[in-house]
Amino acid sequence: PSMPPPSAPPPQAGGPGNRRRSNVVKEVEKLKKNREERRQRQAELKEEKEALMNMDPGNPNWEFLAMIREYRGTIDFHPLKDTDAVDDHQITVCVRKRPLNKKELQRKEVDVITVPSKDQMIVHEPKSKVDLTKFLDNQHFRFDYAFDETCNNEMVYKYTAKPLVQTVFEGGMATCFAYGQTGSGKTHTMGGDFNGRTQDCKKGIYAMAAMDVFKFLRSPCYHNSNLRVSSSFFEIYSGKVFDLLANKAKLRVLEDGKQQVQIVGLTEKEVETVDDVLKLIQHGNTARTSGQTSANSNSSRSHAVFQIILRHGPQRRIYGKFSLIDLAGNERGADTSSSNRQTRMEGAEINKSLLALKECIRALGRRGAHLPFRASKLTQVLRDSFIGEKSKTCMIAMISPGLSSCEHSLNTLRYADRVKELAATDPAEK
Ligand code: ADP
Ligand code: MG
Repeated sequence: PSMPPPSAPPPQAGGPGNRRRSNVVKEVEKLKKNREERRQRQAELKEEKEALMNMDPGNPNWEFLAMIREYRGTIDFHPLKDTDAVDDHQITVCVRKRPLNKKELQRKEVDVITVPSKDQMIVHEPKSKVDLTKFLDNQHFRFDYAFDETCNNEMVYKYTAKPLVQTVFEGGMATCFAYGQTGSGKTHTMGGDFNGRTQDCKKGIYAMAAMDVFKFLRSPCYHNSNLRVSSSFFEIYSGKVFDLLANKAKLRVLEDGKQQVQIVGLTEKEVETVDDVLKLIQHGNTARTSGQTSANSNSSRSHAVFQIILRHGPQRRIYGKFSLIDLAGNERGADTSSSNRQTRMEGAEINKSLLALKECIRALGRRGAHLPFRASKLTQVLRDSFIGEKSKTCMIAMISPGLSSCEHSLNTLRYADRVKELAATDPAEK
């Protein structure tokens, strides 16, 4: 018997057993590589920690920063990717973390928020024991999607408001809310990027939704549908409605015997192109911020509602409606102990409306549940969006990453968590 020549092909590669074995080998190698990378990262972090101790002994928070970095070194990150599927939910609840801004970086704010995966967020709450040793209380939350500081508005739009355009064309009512403390990025997300004092509203969710509405309208499916598009834009301030497309005229809200709610005299402009819509958004945004002493003084205490309405038939009946809402800063709801009576009243009104909103969304998820829409002006004017099988909603909870916002961020996450209760899991224990 002779040995096979040295050039003979290697023993059968590709049989099912072999393939399985080679997959196992690959898997083991991958795990090994991950482990090595993690060790490497931990070693780097340890060095970094020592460097931090030497470099910045005056920063009272460096110890927390070092602990957070150490924690991050122990987890594998799996952020949302552009290729991840967009799920279909009646209620979608997401969170978005904005990056630390220039001011925060300058004063060496510690970033206490970690987004380990496409649907989780961790708040590293700094705490001290009675003997003053510092420790982190790491609190985990789970949502439909979690957007980290590298996500842009396009990405956020894709997973939040974009699927709702379809809903409106199916004859449904859709709502998309931006919720969070003042400065967390609500207006940036909905209205568009700020460049100094000017806002590029093309990059906001309002405009992206409008673009897609026109795309749908021009698609073969709806080309001959006779649907008309119109828009309105108003503000709710202290329980009163102001028309942002008519010099902030104050409007009355009426409810008829059939519980149909109407804003009397609200401007509804027909729009033919995306440019028409952009002009309306610009106009409304300017009206909203005019007369303010600082960028956020009044707008943080009001809810802004931008609507895209589809009508059809000779009576121009409403076919579908998309309401996009930039909510008042949720920290304003806590102004109830202010020494200023007006501020106190406004705070109470904001608090009431945000609580009513949460209950109305929850009621939408439980068909036939009592809908407490009369509890606030906001939920009253959005009543028809909380009923019907075809109604869908999305909430984007915005988070400021800084340590000084930690308490507000936790409040925001707890609220969003209550809107749609999803069980949290701990990535460190996986
Ligand atoms: P809010 O409307 O919640 O009060 P803003 O949208 O006005 O907050 O955001 C506050 C500041 O942070 C703005 O200067 C805005 O441009 C900036 N900002 C918010 N979100 C982001 C983000 N994702 N990326 C970069 N800058 C952001
Ligand atoms: Mg704002």
